[in-house]
Amino acid sequence: MLDCLFCAIADETVPATRVLATDRVLAFRDIDPQAPTHVLVIPKEHHPDVAALAVADAGLLGEVIAQAHHVAVTEGLSEDGYRVVFNTGVQAGQTVPHVHAHVLGGRFLGWPPG
Ligand code: AMP
Ligand code: ZN
Repeated sequence: MLDCLFCAIADETVPATRVLATDRVLAFRDIDPQAPTHVLVIPKEHHPDVAALAVADAGLLGEVIAQAHHVAVTEGLSEDGYRVVFNTGVQAGQTVPHVHAHVLGGRFLGWPPG
C-alpha cells in the first residue's frame, strides 16, 4: 500500500533492524523501545489492524502470533514472560495503520497498562 510506513519497511524502502523474516512475516526492533526488548511483528501484506487481518486471513494472523512467540524465545523472554500487544484504533494508541504485534519483555510489565 502506498504511503504505509510498515509496507515500506517490508519492501526495504525504509530501513529497520530486522530480527527475523519468513515468506509472509517480518519482525524488526521498535525505533522507540518501551522495554529492554521491544520488537514489532508484521505481516508483509498490508492489513490495517488485527481485526481486519483476522477476517481476511486467519492463517496469516496465526503466523504473526507464532513468529511473535519465536521472537520471544530467541530474545530469551519465554521463561520470565513477555507481552504481545495489538493496539487497535485511536483510543488504544494505534499510530501506524498496518497491523503489528508489539513483543515486549525484559522487565516487569505493570498491569493495568496506561
Ligand atoms: P502503535 O502506536 O501501536 O501503532 O505502534 C507503532 C510503533 O511503531 C511505535 O511503538 C513506534 O515507536 C514504532 N515505529 C514508528 N516508526 C518506526 C520505524 N521507522 N521503525 C521501527 N519502529 C517504528
Ligand atoms: Zn502497510
